[in-house]
Amino acid sequence: MSSTARSLLRAQNHLKSLYRESRDHKKNGKPSWHYVALKMGLSVGTVIRVIKGIEPKSARIRHALSLPVYETIPACMICGRVHLNPSKVCPIRNRERRYRRMPIAELPTRVLAWKLRHREETL
Ligand SMILES: [Zn+2]
Repeated sequence: MSSTARSLLRAQNHLKSLYRESRDHKKNGKPSWHYVALKMGLSVGTVIRVIKGIEPKSARIRHALSLPVYETIPACMICGRVHLNPSKVCPIRNRERRYRRMPIAELPTRVLAWKLRHREETL
């Protein structure tokens, strides 16, 4: 199970325990999602969606539920992947740099194949 799935499960369990607890705070003794929503500072719809397993996207709601907040990370311009350490040079660009000045005859087969597959014109 991923850590995001685990934190969603944790949030759901918290909401469910508040739901059970709500019985003691209602005159009729019935549990209420409205009580849970009020306690959490969220709308009833949001609480029910989370219980059904729908993850909220909004940072404010995710924060209220102690879920990790989503961030937009730009993908690499060269390889299209997301590099966790953007200060480091892209491994694809690094490889290109390494083999750029090497004579074709000395290039490893896999590099030559890659260059052909990607129609690299520097050959
Ligand atoms: Zn890259």
